[in-house]
Amino acid sequence: MPANELIRSSASAMAAKLAAKEVSAVELTQAHLDRITEVDGGARGVHAFLHVNTEEALAVAADVDARRAAGEKLHELAGVPIAVKDLIVTKGQPTTAASKILEGWMSPYDATVVKKLRAAGMPLLGKTNLDEFAMGSSTEHSAYGPTRNPWDLDRIPGGSGGGSAAAVAAFEAPLALGTDTGGSIRQPGAVTGTVGVKPTYGAVSRYGAIAMASSLDQIGPVSRTVLDSALLQEVIGGHDPLDSTSLTDPSTGLVAAARLGNVKGMKIGVIKELHGEGFQTGVENRFNDSLELLRSAGAEIVEVSCPNFGYALGAYYLIMPSEASSNLAKFDGVRFGLRTLPTEGPLTIERVMGATRAAGFGDEVKRRIILGTYALSAGYYDAYYGSAQKVRTLIQRDFAAAFAQVDVLISPTSPVTAFKLGEKIDDPLSMYLNDIATIPANLAGVPGLTLPGGLADEDGLPVGIQLLAPAREDSRLYRVGAVLESLLEAQWGGPILDQAPSLSQSVLETVGTAAKEAN
Ligand code: GLN
Repeated sequence: MPANELIRSSASAMAAKLAAKEVSAVELTQAHLDRITEVDGGARGVHAFLHVNTEEALAVAADVDARRAAGEKLHELAGVPIAVKDLIVTKGQPTTAASKILEGWMSPYDATVVKKLRAAGMPLLGKTNLDEFAMGSSTEHSAYGPTRNPWDLDRIPGGSGGGSAAAVAAFEAPLALGTDTGGSIRQPGAVTGTVGVKPTYGAVSRYGAIAMASSLDQIGPVSRTVLDSALLQEVIGGHDPLDSTSLTDPSTGLVAAARLGNVKGMKIGVIKELHGEGFQTGVENRFNDSLELLRSAGAEIVEVSCPNFGYALGAYYLIMPSEASSNLAKFDGVRFGLRTLPTEGPLTIERVMGATRAAGFGDEVKRRIILGTYALSAGYYDAYYGSAQKVRTLIQRDFAAAFAQVDVLISPTSPVTAFKLGEKIDDPLSMYLNDIATIPANLAGVPGLTLPGGLADEDGLPVGIQLLAPAREDSRLYRVGAVLESLLEAQWGGPILDQAPSLSQSVLETVGTAAKEAN
């Protein structure tokens, strides 16, 4: 099979070819590394990667091939390569959180999820770009330059995990890991036509994910199919004694649910507050198409109201910066990465810390540290942080009431399709509004999945459909997601990424040629 066909297949199809010895893990890994060389660099490259892990990835692949040849029983995904968001620590590769403050820093240990990928024999292709410390919705807040959306290189790939989503959409990696604090797996998935899952809070260990807002953060899978995300979540999930919030009884049977894919008799709730006004027409249209398909497959579609969701964004932008301001205090010029000395005056530790943080953090990170420090300050704590926590309880109650009526909830993932690079960078509020539909799940700890729902009429760009389930019921997302995916693909005549103009025609190839000529 030619390399450019091989890299376009799903991770599960790649796994089947490896098992049948139709392709070796080294060939598969090399094909992805070649694709990265071809499309990721240069002035108009995708720039999904901050670091490419060529030698180690090939060595792991060679080891898998040798073990397979020796007849060893391997994990289903052994030899299938994966990219890792650069917020997740990896031994032997740099971890920057896309911040200058961690430039050149190497973690002395692996995150639990990375250990699990290694144990499964999955070659790590490298570390993907993000908004600095995962703060943003466009990947433009990366200190190392933005990632471009493979559908249109002048547009954003979403954020904060734009690198992971773009890598998967551009066939640079079949799978990737992301982190989702307010939507950073799901919104990039929506705007790049890929699948992404925020598991139930605690279902996947956070040990080794650089903390943004600890009570909201969750690591999860990024892929091109629903089944692939289920396969990956089963690799990375499970109890971890190193994470004090890790569940002892997370959802199981995810892959089985994705393979079963049945919605007959299920009740699916349309969240009244999460569509309509403020949502792009093409997003709304594709959302309605998906409802129709689910209805035709035997699901009962009902409307539910979550009256407090309108306060979710406000509560999030108090809770998240409060936790982040505290989590980011450790970047002090003493323990990690960058140290900048003040240009004049005495060399006290406070002044070194101040100079380091002034030079090492970007504007968005500083904005949130200031916001969080203010919200937590004496005299304001109850009015801001305390009130936000009360709103959080109300949102949890909205979910509880909704899930008393329906099995899963559905909404568009993002109110708009991919916007132009530079369009919202100077307008934090309009940037924050991209997560209006994803944030409630983080505040309540429930799982959410996004899958491509087609292309918006007005711009031909991908629209994401979000499914939400009760905590510990991640399997329902896979069960419903798989049905919707197969019905949609039957309409499109194949995967949505086959319709991406930049991918299927020549734009990325042109980028690749330009990059080669520049070398
Ligand atoms: N875009 C949201 C924010 O800027 C979500 C970030 C995330 O999920 N890491 O906070």
